[in-house]
Amino acid sequence: MAAPFSDSGQTLEDFVETVYVHCPQCHQCAQVRRLPSDEEIILADDSGRQSSWRFRRSFSSRKLSCLHCSYTSIWKGTAQQKGGPYDWYFGLPLWLQTPCCGEILWAFNEEHLSFLESYVTAKQRIKFHAQGRIRNGTMASRLPIWIKSAKNRDEVVKGIARLKGMLERS
Ligand SMILES: [Zn+2]
Repeated sequence: MAAPFSDSGQTLEDFVETVYVHCPQCHQCAQVRRLPSDEEIILADDSGRQSSWRFRRSFSSRKLSCLHCSYTSIWKGTAQQKGGPYDWYFGLPLWLQTPCCGEILWAFNEEHLSFLESYVTAKQRIKFHAQGRIRNGTMASRLPIWIKSAKNRDEVVKGIARLKGMLERS
């Protein structure tokens, strides 16, 4: 039996350190990685300041690089384009996406896939509690209903397996 899924409070921002995308030049698998910056300070004394750190981290510079054709590009923008199966910085289609349950199942990288797998296969899901209250901004709480639905579990598990296969072939 699958282990219970326990929401540790991760948000989608926690998964954008590395994002696999379609290279704009050769259309094979390229990576968008966060470039470390000096101004990052982990402020962990209360949840509000933690999220302001998260905000800055998700806006730090990104480098797009393709090992297949050597294409590179740097993102230093201020506006992200969030939503759908695209990276937030260059707006490129995600490498890991597949039709599933009439929707598109997508993931940024292997950690994101593992997260989805542990969520979907769990028989029991434990909500995230911070300072005695349930936080609504976590990734688990924001997953679309079709991914959370028990009737779609088998299809979503198959979709995750397809995405894992893509990762192995990339
Ligand atoms: Zn390329």
